[in-house]
Amino acid sequence: MAKVHELLATGPTLSFEFWPPRDEQRFARVLDELGSLRPDFVSVTYGAAGSTRDRTHDLVASLQAASYLAVAHVCCAAHRRQDLVDLLDRYRSEGIENVLALRGDPPLDAAGALPEGELRFASELVELVRAVGSFSIGVAVHPEGHPDCGGALDVDLDRAAAKLREADYAITQFFFRVEDYLRLVDGLAARGVDKPVVPGIMPIDRIGQVTRMAEMSGATIPAEVHSRLEAARSDPDEVRRIGVEVATELAQKLQAEDVPGLHFYTMNRSASVLSVCANLGIGAVP
Ligand code: FAD
Repeated sequence: MAKVHELLATGPTLSFEFWPPRDEQRFARVLDELGSLRPDFVSVTYGAAGSTRDRTHDLVASLQAASYLAVAHVCCAAHRRQDLVDLLDRYRSEGIENVLALRGDPPLDAAGALPEGELRFASELVELVRAVGSFSIGVAVHPEGHPDCGGALDVDLDRAAAKLREADYAITQFFFRVEDYLRLVDGLAARGVDKPVVPGIMPIDRIGQVTRMAEMSGATIPAEVHSRLEAARSDPDEVRRIGVEVATELAQKLQAEDVPGLHFYTMNRSASVLSVCANLGIGAVP
């Protein structure tokens, strides 16, 4: 199996994020449909306090067994160092060589912060993953700055640059304005870091969910998009149609900037991602 940073070096990639599903049958259909687009890699989220430790592992292993290149998200929040070493050893022994090293957030419906772990920041996890094995290591970066930085973009960029310098590539938090991505990449380059930064795209398909996720991640939903969505609030099909249109326009602008790949936050749903990819000519029969 390849390593993600090697694929990124050979041309633009297509990738999808999934989370460990509750409904296996439904997920099998989603995977079937999105698998038809032949993604270069797929990634699987991890419940930050370890709540999905086994389910994340099992899905990563089964995707890899089905010939997908699978990236295991690993979060250091609320973990002991030894728990992380054990988890990474397990992946290494099974030939899973791609890890996205994250701090982690409490789930959307959780009250309060996560308990402290032995590692405070994702950069410390990058160091640990390097020490455990020869993984390809991705990290998260935040085009509008991480919310904990309270708008101090330069400070956040300094930390993101230090983290990415030690990793192999980054995937961004979702965002809606291409200029936020470009400012991030330029800021990293100004700090001497030119590793691939794959933009993360989330086609909006439900207003409530995206609004909550945007609040938590610090992503701005542009006012014009927000008012279109609000006007369509009672019509789920129209909300999805607007979401596909917005994501398509963003992806096209990013492609024009020669981004290293497109990473879709699928929310374990296929319809909107399929529509965006069809609009981009991805997966069309030649
Ligand atoms: P960090 O890099 O540790 O940054 C967190 C904060 O700490 C930032 O404000 C940063 O500026 C600050 N910081 C960093 N280093 C220092 C330092 N040395 N001193 C002081 N402050 C510092 N969450 C999950 O729970 N599970 C997932 O599977 C998951 N997958 C994700 C996938 C992607 C592609 C992305 C973009 C995010 C994902 N997240 C996931 C969310 C992520 O965990 C949150 O955004 C989290 O709040 C920050 O994670 P990080 O890895 O960027 O943390």
